[in-house]
Amino acid sequence: MPLVQLIYVSSACRELSDEELEHILESSIRHNTQQGITGVLLYTNGSFMQVIEGEEAAIEETYSRICDDDRHKDVFLLSKEVIAKRDFPRWAMGFRRLSRGKFESHPAYAPFLPDGFDAERIGAQPGVATEMLRQFSGA
Ligand code: FAD
Repeated sequence: MPLVQLIYVSSACRELSDEELEHILESSIRHNTQQGITGVLLYTNGSFMQVIEGEEAAIEETYSRICDDDRHKDVFLLSKEVIAKRDFPRWAMGFRRLSRGKFESHPAYAPFLPDGFDAERIGAQPGVATEMLRQFSGA
């Protein structure tokens, strides 16, 4: 079964509280641990970017569940590719809530973050999503 990496961005249906984000994270860690999935979830200004990595069937099932979740909308698939090894092996689901100060320390990414993650600009620049996930998560 091939190892697959999938990255998407989405918009929260409303500004989520710390408690709601905590629920999403707990649920993600519980399911992902069972399915051998690792990854990172970034959240800023009502906008998500997530990478999930694992066996193809587990990624398909999990992504379908994520897409059906009505806590977010406009799920935009940035990439889905077979990989030789994981880029984000460290966490069942790492999480970072990004503040404006965090962006200011990475000015090269400002064009991709005008008001949350800009799916079209990020999608037009291959590799930038993985770089941002790596830089902002500290992976
Ligand atoms: P539980 O984890 O038991 O749900 C806990 C509580 O969360 C519920 O009581 C309910 O209040 C609330 N809840 C659950 N589902 C929904 C829903 N669809 N709409 C509104 N409230 C709900 N899941 C993963 O397995 N792996 C991931 O990496 C992952 N990443 C996510 C990223 C984002 C941005 C979001 C929004 C969700 C993510 N999820 C992920 C969660 C996933 O979408 C499902 O909600 C979850 O897997 C359902 O698990 P469960 O049935 O065990 O519910």
